[in-house]
Amino acid sequence: MGPLSGGPDDAAIGRFLEITALVPSRSRTFTVPLANVPRYFGLSAELVTQMTSLGLPSAVRNGDVYFERSDLVNMSLRLRTGARYRTIRRFWPLALSALEGKRRIGYNLSYVANCPFPEPHTGCRFRILTPRGQSERSVSAGQSGPIFTSDLWLSCEWPELPAIAREVVDIAEHFELTWLPPAIHKDTRFMRKHGLANCLGMSRILAAEGRHRGLQARSVFGFLTSPPYGSVHYWAEVRIEGRWIPIDPLMVSTLTNWNILDSAIWTPYHSLGGILCRLGCIRRPLVMHEGKEVAASFPISHL
Ligand SMILES: [Zn+2]
Repeated sequence: MGPLSGGPDDAAIGRFLEITALVPSRSRTFTVPLANVPRYFGLSAELVTQMTSLGLPSAVRNGDVYFERSDLVNMSLRLRTGARYRTIRRFWPLALSALEGKRRIGYNLSYVANCPFPEPHTGCRFRILTPRGQSERSVSAGQSGPIFTSDLWLSCEWPELPAIAREVVDIAEHFELTWLPPAIHKDTRFMRKHGLANCLGMSRILAAEGRHRGLQARSVFGFLTSPPYGSVHYWAEVRIEGRWIPIDPLMVSTLTNWNILDSAIWTPYHSLGGILCRLGCIRRPLVMHEGKEVAASFPISHL
């Protein structure tokens, strides 16, 4: 009986530690104190401490132990435990199964953000980026609730990808979904070298490979519309017969590898356009207050 019996298997732990060792030490920022790990990541302090003894990097400042955020996300996904894994496992397949048999799907999307000023003030305004573009929202002092809400519709029916576009999709087979520290989160050279990619890098690699083959292709960002919350996500689009088709093969392969998505129904060639709501090609802040980006959440439900 090892110290982790009943927990994650040794192969998963081994691969997690291998990947962790590939991330350059100097790219880590160590912003998450051990005390916050159970609350924000749903990972027990015991497990994190055990992983630290096996090689999970940490930093000690003023007697407190800190971790790099992306290491904790990868730990959750690789060891299939904790909040990030449970959220994805539960809500992404549900969002996809809601598309089956539909021509289009409707969502109600809200933006929830709080004024960062300590006291309510007059003239409190947010500048927000929505699926329809930029918009201003004034909030009266003490107001609570969403600063924006709207219905949106996405198509569930997308044309079949031609062979040349399928060739681009196939490139994602050589990558594993991996969170990376901010210093290397756009580093597609690192991602190609190690076969590890976050959604931003994968979208850029697929777009570049598409253009390399003479296709019109681009990387875009927007919402992954998986109720109960939308999350910011990146994917690639290829233009076929005048229509931009969203492709996100790394998401499909991740979910089918985890055995939480039916690979007979969902293949990497299948467009996930029914859960991908584009906001633009260049990442911009979604919610600004007095010229500064503020944290927000994006409750979403099916209509
Ligand atoms: Zn304000």
